[in-house]
Amino acid sequence: MAGRKQSRGVCVFCSKEMTKGGLSRHLKSCTARQAANAAADAAGPGKPETIFHLQIQDRYTSDFWLHLEMRGSAPLRTLDRYLRTIWLECCGHLSRFSFGGWDGDEIAMSRQLGQAVEVGDELTHIYDFGTSSETLVKAVATRTGKPLTKHPITLMARNQIPEVTCQECGKPAAWLCIECIYEYDKPGWLCQKHGKRHPHDDYGELMPVVNSPRLGMCGYVGPADPPY
Ligand SMILES: [Zn+2]
Ligand SMILES: [Zn+2]
Ligand SMILES: [Zn+2]
Ligand SMILES: [Zn+2]
Repeated sequence: MAGRKQSRGVCVFCSKEMTKGGLSRHLKSCTARQAANAAADAAGPGKPETIFHLQIQDRYTSDFWLHLEMRGSAPLRTLDRYLRTIWLECCGHLSRFSFGGWDGDEIAMSRQLGQAVEVGDELTHIYDFGTSSETLVKAVATRTGKPLTKHPITLMARNQIPEVTCQECGKPAAWLCIECIYEYDKPGWLCQKHGKRHPHDDYGELMPVVNSPRLGMCGYVGPADPPY
């Protein structure tokens, strides 16, 4: 998925559309976000605590990214589950967190986020030790206050699904053919119409295009929706 313009996403607080880097800066000063935080601090349940702004991206396909807010008291397992649900889960593979990827020491899933990272740190999450998905988790900021919801994680922005076009006709793609990629060195993207009459099935059925960096890996078919 290289060679296209940077993917964009929408701030959940004010609906402005920006790139990943733009949102990273914007979320620090978004007045609608500040108002939501102030309202949570005034009326929300629970005690104030350190809450982290995490910028998350696929290691190899930077078109796929998330801006999350996560309680410092929540264990890394919470983030692992979130990433599995929104992006990764195909068949229950093992996963791990570390600093520095495969070479780094594993960090226990039971470790609280606030005990594991400081602002500026970057964790690597690896899902599936065979056909691996690697996700970079950067702590870009913290705030002290009450969480916005009863959940440990809040989705603040995610990339819009990258625009991919049919290799036959240039219309928006709805399907991916793995056989085209591996056997014919083609992009593999197909629109609804050309997906219907596509002749390949040696690599299984065509895969629906979903908003996840794991699309096309280990039979991943989505749905790539957040858990809450
Ligand atoms: Zn905003
Ligand atoms: Zn799998
Ligand atoms: Zn087509
Ligand atoms: Zn094909």
